[in-house]
Amino acid sequence: MNELFDLIIVGAGPAGLTAAIYASRANLSVLVVESGVNGGKLSKTYEIENYPGIKKISGLELANQLTEHGQQFGAKLITGEVKTITDNGETKTVELVSQKKYDCKAIIVATGTKERPLDLPRANEFTGRGISYCAVCDGFFYRNKNVVIIGGGNSALEESLFLASIANKVTIVIRRDEFRADAKVVDKVKENEKIEIITKSLPEELVIEDDKIIGIKIKNVDTGDITTLECAGIFPYIGADPCTDFLDKTILDERGYVITNPDMSTAIKGIFAAGDCIQKDLRQVVTACNDGAIAANSVNKYLK
Ligand code: NAP
Repeated sequence: MNELFDLIIVGAGPAGLTAAIYASRANLSVLVVESGVNGGKLSKTYEIENYPGIKKISGLELANQLTEHGQQFGAKLITGEVKTITDNGETKTVELVSQKKYDCKAIIVATGTKERPLDLPRANEFTGRGISYCAVCDGFFYRNKNVVIIGGGNSALEESLFLASIANKVTIVIRRDEFRADAKVVDKVKENEKIEIITKSLPEELVIEDDKIIGIKIKNVDTGDITTLECAGIFPYIGADPCTDFLDKTILDERGYVITNPDMSTAIKGIFAAGDCIQKDLRQVVTACNDGAIAANSVNKYLK
């Protein structure tokens, strides 16, 4: 017999942890399974300035507080990667990559997204030594050096501000002449003297010498001109894809996001979803928390 929970939450980011707070306060037995770092993407974010009631907080600090809060009312948090979900009707079986199995009456999928990798030859080889997807984790290695950021979304711009406080110079390369990020952060980036912005350009080739990244070649999308940017580090923030590979494809859209109803239920009875992994317009900590609370409330109703 596998251990039985009322609810298994897959993912301990803001959506999953908020669902854990609401579900355990409703007296449900809750297991939260997280494959990476508790707090999810939040723990890799430099600063949060748009979470209502908290004017400014480091992403890691908010992630730590949420992780503690998520367990405060009895939810159990474990590390593990979910491999499969088997629908037995009344119950579901969640199997981890470690082959450990748990049963539950309902599931909330809150797995978030994973960063899109830089698609250049040898980029994989240099991930962690010249290419980084986490400015907060690796920024220190580039103290007083030049770094290049690829992308113009909120992640790219917010992390460029963090890197500008450490690095000698930050160059942001975007493929259009417009940013995707919020106006406020765009203004801050434009005002920062350590940040240069290069528009209408795409990464073309890594420049490597003595097995080290020493730059990146970029190509102007209009003229085809190639420019070499000398840098010690490259931070690609070119968007993200949902972590939903383990789910039944019938509940996913063509990009892999979970299709949910307004109550966060999916087309499979007993499976709910919340946060960045669902199909929606606005991916923010506050909207993830909102989804998590609604999903937990819906699970409570479903179980009754
Ligand atoms: P994003 O908003 O999708 O932005 C991706 C950026 O990368 C865009 O500038 C995009 O250019 C560019 N890009 C995409 N593919 C590329 C390629 N192959 N080569 C070069 N450039 C490429 O991704 P994100 O910044 O990771 O954000 C993900 C979600 O989280 C968003 O909904 C975002 O609002 C949210 N988020 C919010 C906050 C916050 O509010 N504090 C912080 C972080 C993230 P185009 O614009 O030309 O497509």
